[in-house]
Amino acid sequence: MSYYWTSKTLKNQRRPKNRGPSLLLMVLALALLAGIVVLGFSCRSSSPATGSSRSGTEAKAIAAVIEPPAEPDNVFTWTIGNGDTLSAIFDRFELSRNAMYQILSSDEALLALDVLRPGHVLTFTLDEESRALSEMELFVHPGKRIIYRRVNDSGFEYEEIILPGIWDQELLQGEINGSFYLSAIAAGLTEGETATITDLFKDQLNFAREIRAGDRFQVIRSRQFVEGEMTGQSRVEGVRIFRRNHLHSAFLFEDGNYYDHKGESLVRAFLRYPTQQRYRVSSSFNPARRHPITGRVSPHNGVDFAMPTGTPVLSTGDGIVTRVLNHPFAGKYIEIQHGGQYLTRYLHLHRHLVRRGQRVKRGERIALSGNTGRSTGPHLHFELHINGRPVNPLTAKIPMASSVPRDKMALFNRRVGDLVALMEPSDEQVARSVSSEARPDSI
Ligand SMILES: [Zn+2]
Repeated sequence: MSYYWTSKTLKNQRRPKNRGPSLLLMVLALALLAGIVVLGFSCRSSSPATGSSRSGTEAKAIAAVIEPPAEPDNVFTWTIGNGDTLSAIFDRFELSRNAMYQILSSDEALLALDVLRPGHVLTFTLDEESRALSEMELFVHPGKRIIYRRVNDSGFEYEEIILPGIWDQELLQGEINGSFYLSAIAAGLTEGETATITDLFKDQLNFAREIRAGDRFQVIRSRQFVEGEMTGQSRVEGVRIFRRNHLHSAFLFEDGNYYDHKGESLVRAFLRYPTQQRYRVSSSFNPARRHPITGRVSPHNGVDFAMPTGTPVLSTGDGIVTRVLNHPFAGKYIEIQHGGQYLTRYLHLHRHLVRRGQRVKRGERIALSGNTGRSTGPHLHFELHINGRPVNPLTAKIPMASSVPRDKMALFNRRVGDLVALMEPSDEQVARSVSSEARPDSI
């Protein structure tokens, strides 16, 4: 009983009380007389505590006087800032921890809420009658949103909304002056793109010793736009490095792998299995699975191998450790980024053996398997993502071969020709921007 009383009181504290209509009209008239144009009011207003989240100080000062009359009081947003955690945000809005755990439970298949970054936006919708959380949206960028919807009292399901947008290609080039890293950044490449490039050539080129002033580089980079807005997603499609008499090249093909101009693979092969021995598959990859414990639709974005706790877990490819975390449902887990296209995850671990930021080799021990988080027995849950989407790790096409297959060579040569045409200075079309229609969609 007292809970309801409390929640009602708190609800009223969330935002300023509505002023009487006469006061509102008076203020509106004054504002009009003074010729103030109030811009940027979003119909999803933020709560008073979050004043900094969307509107500037100017709008905040006005917001204290005028409450937009049609504003729904059951929807509010929060823009993630440095150091924000999901639990602190739930506390701030006085949302129940129970609802948070229910959302984290549905997020186990996605783990999208584990790395909230500044600029991501959370939108909460309360049920108008019960005032319980009915929906939470995570806005990652204009091309990617995730909606967690309540399906019943005990839980949520998620929907991931991914828009393909348009990928615009551009040529970035320069001469080496100082290090490759500094020259690439000066040419407009990001740190991530520069790391992708040095990684691609790591077997054939020592960037610290073999690159000299006067060497040149060319990069075709494409960036994603959704409804005219840049999403922050980009990929390196082609690279040429001219080092005195040597040419080093890399071209991204439709299978998601990089090859040199002769079609030889630049990505080292992956292991199919993340363990030395094969173990029984106790649950296979199934995007439409019902969760064995909760009964709700909950995609199984990986494959489970039954194995005793303490079994060494191996990284299936060379890469950089991007997450070493502990999740209430996924348990202790590790994520590894392998170049720009591939990512692997290893869940329910007993112990981590690597740190975030560490470089690992294919076959390197990264953890001991376990039974942590929500788990029905000792097992390893293994995921493989290609271009941001989970795929079946047991059947996905991964770089096991060392060159472009013979029957794809003609297609590959056309692709190289297209990219090189963008790089050639003689070509009138060394365009800053080229329509994405020219490139295969599947990349
Ligand atoms: Zn699993």
